[in-house]
Amino acid sequence: MRTDLFASRHIGIREDDLQHMLKTIDVDNLEQLIHETIPSEIRLQRPLQLPNPMSEHEFLAHIQELSEKNKVFKTYIGLGYNECITPSVIKRNILENPGWYTAYTPYQAEIAQGRLEALLNFQTVVSDLTGMELANASLLDESTAAAEAMTMLYDVRSREQKKNEVLKFFVSEEVLPQTISLLRTRSTPLGIELIIGNHEEFTFDNDFYGALLQYPGKHGQIHDYEAFVTKAKANDIKVAVAADILSLVLLKAPGEFGVDVVVGTTQRFGIPLGYGGPHAAFFATREAYKRSIPGRIIGVTKDTDGNHALRMALQTREQHIKRDKATSNICTAQVLLAVMAGMYAVYHGPKGLKFIAEQVHSKTKSLSQKLGKSGFQQLNSSFFDTILVDVGDVEKLKSIAEQKGINFNYIDTGLVSISINEATTNQDIDSILSCFNELEKESNNQSSGSDSTEEVIPNSVQRNTPFLQNEVFNSHHSETELMRYIKKLERKDLALNHSMISLGSCTMKLNAASEMLPLSWAQWGSIHPFVPIDQAEGYQIVLEELAKNLSEITGFAGTSLQPNSGAQGEYAGLMTIRAYHESRNEGHRDICIIPASAHGTNPASAVMAGMKVVVTKTDERGNIDVADLEEKVIAHSQNLAALMVTYPSTHGVFESSIKKITNMIHDHGGQVYMDGANMNAQVGLTNPATIGADVCHLNLHKTFAIPHGGGGPGVGPICVAPQLVPFLPGNPIIKTGGEQAISAISAAPWGSSLACLISYGYIKMLGEEGLRHSTEIAILNANYIKHRLNGKYEVLYTGEQGRAAHEMILDCRPFKQNGIEVTDIAKRLMDYGFHAPTVSFPVAGTVMIEPTESENLAELDRFCDAMISIRHEIDAATAEDPNNVLKNSPHTLAMATSDEWNFPYSRQKALFPLPYVSENKFWPSVRRVDDAYGDRNLICTCAPIEAYAEVE
Ligand SMILES: *Cc1c(COP(=O)(O)O)cnc(C)c1O
Repeated sequence: MRTDLFASRHIGIREDDLQHMLKTIDVDNLEQLIHETIPSEIRLQRPLQLPNPMSEHEFLAHIQELSEKNKVFKTYIGLGYNECITPSVIKRNILENPGWYTAYTPYQAEIAQGRLEALLNFQTVVSDLTGMELANASLLDESTAAAEAMTMLYDVRSREQKKNEVLKFFVSEEVLPQTISLLRTRSTPLGIELIIGNHEEFTFDNDFYGALLQYPGKHGQIHDYEAFVTKAKANDIKVAVAADILSLVLLKAPGEFGVDVVVGTTQRFGIPLGYGGPHAAFFATREAYKRSIPGRIIGVTKDTDGNHALRMALQTREQHIKRDKATSNICTAQVLLAVMAGMYAVYHGPKGLKFIAEQVHSKTKSLSQKLGKSGFQQLNSSFFDTILVDVGDVEKLKSIAEQKGINFNYIDTGLVSISINEATTNQDIDSILSCFNELEKESNNQSSGSDSTEEVIPNSVQRNTPFLQNEVFNSHHSETELMRYIKKLERKDLALNHSMISLGSCTMKLNAASEMLPLSWAQWGSIHPFVPIDQAEGYQIVLEELAKNLSEITGFAGTSLQPNSGAQGEYAGLMTIRAYHESRNEGHRDICIIPASAHGTNPASAVMAGMKVVVTKTDERGNIDVADLEEKVIAHSQNLAALMVTYPSTHGVFESSIKKITNMIHDHGGQVYMDGANMNAQVGLTNPATIGADVCHLNLHKTFAIPHGGGGPGVGPICVAPQLVPFLPGNPIIKTGGEQAISAISAAPWGSSLACLISYGYIKMLGEEGLRHSTEIAILNANYIKHRLNGKYEVLYTGEQGRAAHEMILDCRPFKQNGIEVTDIAKRLMDYGFHAPTVSFPVAGTVMIEPTESENLAELDRFCDAMISIRHEIDAATAEDPNNVLKNSPHTLAMATSDEWNFPYSRQKALFPLPYVSENKFWPSVRRVDDAYGDRNLICTCAPIEAYAEVE
C-alpha cells in the first residue's frame, strides 16, 4: 500500500476488506458495481484533467509556499472587517479541535448539549449588546443578514396588515457598500424598491415599509438615530440597524432607541479575517417577530425528567417545513464561528470587552488628535474606532503607506478612513502618523486638533446599561478555567472523532488534519477582503485553481466561489439564470419546476429569486414522474425559467431518464439547475454537464471536506455552463465575477476564502484517481450497508439494477404497529454510540444513511450490528406497552447510576447493548428533550445569575 498517498488515509477501506465487501454485495470488482449503479450514457468519457496528487507532506510545503505570497499588511480598512486577536486557548481548543469542528448541526439535541450551550451564549452576547429580546444562532455575513432584515420586515408588515402594497425600503448612504450591493440583488426579484439617501433628509412618507441604518456609519461617524426611529415608528416604518458589535460595548444599544432588528458581524470577536470569511453574522429582533426570524434559534427546554436541556427552537419556521412559503432559505449558518465568538465573550467577560473597546477607542482618539496637530482635518465629530481624514492627495498617501506595509480605506474624494482595532499597538499608531507626516501637508491647520479630554462619544449615544451579567460570562477568565469549560461542553457532543455520522445528503466525511492546519496560519488568517489584489497573491492562486478544478469536476465553463452556503449557491445560480433570460429579452420566464422530494432550500431559493414554484411528482420508485413533468413543462412552456433537480436524487438513485428530462427543459426554453449536494456520488464518474445541467452548486462542506462545524461554515460555489458565465456575481469594491456580473450574493468578493483552503487541499492531495476512487468507495460502502441490512429494513428506492447510489433510505413506518417511531430509532442509536442518520428527509418516517468513503469496514459493521440489534428490539416492542428500551432512549449516566431502576429490561441491555459499546461508551448528557414545551416557553438566552442562585 502506498502509505504516502493521501487517498490511503482519506479512504477507510483497506485492500483486504475490499475483496470481502465486493463478494458480500456480489460483484466481481468495483467497476461492475459502478456499471450497475450509474447509467452508462452519463459516465465520463475521459478522466478528469487534474494534477497528480501531492502527499500530505508535499501539500503542507506547497501551501506554506503559497501563503508566503500573501503580504500581511497592517490593515485599517474597516468596512465591516477588522483585525482582532483570537485567544490561543480558543484557537487550540475549538478551531483546531475536531471535537468541535466535525460535529453536525445539533438536530439530535441529547448528544449536542455542548454546542447548544455555546450557541446560547452567542445569542446572549448578541441580545445583550444589541439590547434586543431575541437573537438567532448566526447568519452568513453582515450583508446577507441585512438583506434578511429587509425581507423579514416586509414579511412582518404583510402579516400585520394582512397584505402589503408598500414596497419602498430606505437605505442610508452610510450603509457599507457591499451591503447595498447585496440589498440590490435581494430586493429586485421581490419587487422591493430601494431608496438610498441621507437619513437626515429622509421624508417619512407612507410609501416606505422599512429602513436600514449603519451604526456607526461606514466611515466611522456615530449618528444619534433616536429621532429617526421615533419618526419612523410614527409613520409605521420599521427600522433595522447594522451595528458594529464591539462599538456596542460603549454605545447605546439600538434596542434602547426602539429599532426592530439589529444585524452585524461578530468577526472582530476573535475570528480571523481570512480574506473575507467565514465569520458569524448575527440577527437580533423583538420577540414579537419570533415566527419570522430567519435561521436557527437555540432555546431552553427540559428533558423527560424535567431537567434543564437545550435544543433548536421553533423549527417550523425553517425552510425545511415552509418550503416555498419560507421567507429565508438559510440552512447551513456559521456555527463554529459563532461558538468561537461566544467563547471570546465568555473569556473576556463584560470587563474584558470594555477594556478592549476602550483601548481601541482611546487609540483612535489619540490618533485623531495627533493628526490634528500635524495639520490634518479629521471629519467625524463623533466616532468609536474609525476616523475620516481629509488628505487631498489620496494616491500619494497610498504609495507611502503601502511602502510601509499599511492599508487605509482610500475614498476617491480625497478622503481616507482609518479603522483601529484590538491588535493595534501604540507603535502602529506612530507608523500611521509617519505616513501622514511624510505627506508634508502644507497648510498647518492646528485648530482642528481636539484635546485629549474632549468626549467624542456624546452622552446621548453612550451606553449606560450593563451587559453579560450572567455567571457564564463572569467565571472563565483564566486559561485553565476556559480550557476546562470548553472541554466540559465538548464532552457532551458526539462528533466524527467519536463515531460515524451517517447523515444522508450531508456527507460527513473525513476533514483531514493536513487540510485544516493552514487555517491557523497568520499568512492566511490576517488578510482583509478588500486589500489590493496584489497583496493576496497566495489566495488568488488558490482560489483560481480551486475554481478551475471545480469547473473541471462539474464539466462546466466557470465557477464563482462567492456563495457561502449551499442555499446561497442555489440562490446565486437561479439569479444567473434570471439574468440570462433577461439578457435575451425573456425576463418574463419565471416558472421554476421542482420535484416534490427536493430539499426545502430549493423552493425557498426559487421564491427569493422571484420565481413561481411548480411542484412535480415523483413516481412510486422515487424517480421524477416524467409524464407529470412533461405535462407541466408543456403547460408552462412560455414562462419556463428552470428545473431544479437533485442528482443523484434525494432518494439516492441515479435516474436513468435524466438526459431525457434535461433535454425536455431545454426544448422549452428553460435552464436546468442541479442541486449538487449529492456530488459525492458523481466526482470522477459523471458530472452535471454530462447529465445536461446548466448550473449547479457544490456544498464544499459536504463533498469537498470542509468540516460541518456543528452547522457551518459552508461554502456553496456555483459552477455554470458558458452561457451563464457572464452573469457570475460581482462585488462593489474588488472586481470579480462575469462581464455582466449580477450584484453581490455575499459580502466578500470570494466569500469564505479561508475555508476554501480545505477543499483546495482535498483536491490537490487526492488528484483524479483519489477523487474517483473516493466516489467508488462511497458507493461501495452504501451498497455494503444496504446488503447487510437486507431483510431487517426495507430500502425504499434503488436503481434499475437494485443498487443504491452513495446513500439509501430505510423505511421505518412499518414499525408503527409496534408503537415505534423513526425518532425512537434515532434516539436509541445514541445508546449504541451513534449519531442518527438523516431523519424524515426526503420521506417522513424514514432514515437516510450515507456512510461516505472515509469510514472503515469495522465501523460500518458496528453500525450495521447496531441497526440489526435495534431491529430485534423493535420486534420485541408492542404498541400497548411503550415502556421499552426504544421509547425510553437515550439512557443517561444518571439513569444508569440511580439507586432506582424500574425499567422492564436490564441496565446492561439499556446501556451496553453490544460488546463494542463498553470499549468506547458515549453518554448522552440529558434524556429526551421536550420540543413542544420549549416552543411554548421560549427562552433564548442564558439565565441571569439569580436563576443559578435559586437552584442552589
Ligand atoms: C445540504 C443541502 C442543501 C443546502 O445546503 P446548505 O449549505 O445547508 O445551505 C440543499 N440541498 C440538499 C439536497 C442538501 O442536502
